[in-house]
Amino acid sequence: MATERLVEDYHPQTAAERRLPERLILWDETLRDGEQMPGVHFTPEEKLRIAEALSDAGVPLLNAGIPVVSEEEARAVRLLAEAGLRAKVLAAGRTVPGDVDAVVKSGASHIAIFVAASQVHLRYKLKMTQDEVVAASVSTVRQAKQAGLHVAFVTEDTVRAPFDFVERLYKAVLEAGADRLVVADTVGIMTPLTFRWFLREFRRRVGPTDWSVHCHNDFGLAVANTIAAVEEGVTSPHVCVNGLGERAGNASLEEVVMVLESLYGYKTGIRTDRLFGLSQLVEELSGVPIAANKALVGYNSFSHEAGIHTHGILANTLTYEPLQPEAVGRGRQMILGKHTGKAALVEKLKERSARADDPMLAELLKRVKERGEHRSKAELQRFLSEYRALFEHPGVSDQEFWQMVESLGIPMEAR
Ligand code: MN
Repeated sequence: MATERLVEDYHPQTAAERRLPERLILWDETLRDGEQMPGVHFTPEEKLRIAEALSDAGVPLLNAGIPVVSEEEARAVRLLAEAGLRAKVLAAGRTVPGDVDAVVKSGASHIAIFVAASQVHLRYKLKMTQDEVVAASVSTVRQAKQAGLHVAFVTEDTVRAPFDFVERLYKAVLEAGADRLVVADTVGIMTPLTFRWFLREFRRRVGPTDWSVHCHNDFGLAVANTIAAVEEGVTSPHVCVNGLGERAGNASLEEVVMVLESLYGYKTGIRTDRLFGLSQLVEELSGVPIAANKALVGYNSFSHEAGIHTHGILANTLTYEPLQPEAVGRGRQMILGKHTGKAALVEKLKERSARADDPMLAELLKRVKERGEHRSKAELQRFLSEYRALFEHPGVSDQEFWQMVESLGIPMEAR
């Protein structure tokens, strides 16, 4: 029998253009950048639950937080550092000696020391000169190395900074002992093509062997840019479960993993069947609902309603699914509604060994379609308006804030 391929795979055609790293060290940022999403906060115990799930799924490195943020945050980092996780625990700090001390005290084995690199950040936010940034970076990297930490050095806004300064700064911290260099697209303005150019130039000028990227999703390109970076040899990309993070979020863990695993056949070391459970856990503990059409973990990403699609799926799932839902630890759903066709009904009837003749089937189909067309959206709309009201005012409410101001006796204009 002739072996006929059911679908073509053109990914091997581009294999020569990829320089995928030998080993990927996924660096999870859910508990740091993810938590910085407006309105999101995790208790130390919640951080531990997420960290355990990440670690069990095979994520090798996770940022637990910034210990100087608050006492609770310091407690969270300590809790994770002492939990005996398989994943390495990292904590972050600015180029300030006290921040590094706090990380040392937390018991984390890894530190990410961060400072801004672009002129707009230096002039308006840090109010530091380039020389001052280099000096503070070098001395805190040395301090952390002397304390025995694995040191990653991060600049915010790397891709909008003058390249000569980027080169000088990163070379200086490498010489001071930094183990890993992080390039950040803090406001998400890279495209895959430009990012690959930037990273090639970075490697040519700085020459790191162990490097990382931090991509934001402001233009919806966080995952694409992260994949482009891994294609360029980046070893430890930052990811967040569900793409959580500031503003439009970061590169989503599940998407980055499945693109590499499923499209390139690359072994990420992640137990992909844990991804859906991880996503649900983070959705629940962050309170940030996953969009229905979110890739891989959204409610619709393995659901089918349209007659033509359902018919295809029932005959062979390759027709309308690029991967099996079980690969990410979930199942598929067949939805009955306006777009349903006969094949889905025949299949559904089998559940109770029911058999309908053609006229019966036609009538049943008519009723299902009608019901689908007239289904009330009222309940969903009520839920949506409650949801919007909640999301319009995340965090501490205005009323709570002004009550605090008043109780402290801060003088203000009467309204
Ligand atoms: Mn960020």
